[in-house]
Amino acid sequence: MRMIFLGAPGAGKGTQARIVAEKHGLPQIATGNILRQAVKDGTTLGQEAKSFMDAGGLVPDGVMIGLIHERLQQPDAQKGWILDGFPRTQAQAEALDALLAKVQQDLDLVVDVQVPDAEIVGRLGGRWVCKQCEAPYHSKNNPPKTDKVCDHCGGELYQRADDKPDTVASRLTVYHTNTSPLIGYYQGRGNYRAVDGTQPIETVERALEAILAGVSR
Ligand code: AMP
Repeated sequence: MRMIFLGAPGAGKGTQARIVAEKHGLPQIATGNILRQAVKDGTTLGQEAKSFMDAGGLVPDGVMIGLIHERLQQPDAQKGWILDGFPRTQAQAEALDALLAKVQQDLDLVVDVQVPDAEIVGRLGGRWVCKQCEAPYHSKNNPPKTDKVCDHCGGELYQRADDKPDTVASRLTVYHTNTSPLIGYYQGRGNYRAVDGTQPIETVERALEAILAGVSR
């Protein structure tokens, strides 16, 4: 199974991608997580990406396409994958199509987790992320069992610098300019499904399970 999770920042696509990945034994390839790790490690990729990320902009397509090209060749990605945060531009979507065509693979599903902008700002203000494993939490909607401690790995939770209101505004503009046009790109292909991301996490999870059950392989 090869699938893409689309959606604005804070729509809950990372939360849902993680759940589906665990249930189905697929790697969750979250480009934002890969980039944050690269920044932490001070690698060339991290140095290239940092200023764009801090400003809430997009890391250049060439960098992202190279990253995904390499990641999809790893052994764990041969049985399928969930892309979380890629593609974010038409050029990235076209590059992914070209990569898949080359290895004669299909994209099985594009899930679009939809949440209106007005709700996004509040959601990101309450978002906490694990420093170690990047598991996402929300102070109200999805709190950890112990304050500021990750349920999964015991890591410390922190608030992302790019979740501050000013940067969130830029990220939403970038989403509407560059990424939401991908809905049209995928809609005509028969494998695009939208889910209402304003529902509780478990309800979205069930909606996704129903969609996955209906996807023929
Ligand atoms: P995320 O964790 O998905 O919100 O990503 C955090 C930041 O990483 C984004 O605001 C971008 O600066 C960068 N980023 C992640 N994925 C991509 C991508 N596919 N294309 C360009 N930039 C990306």
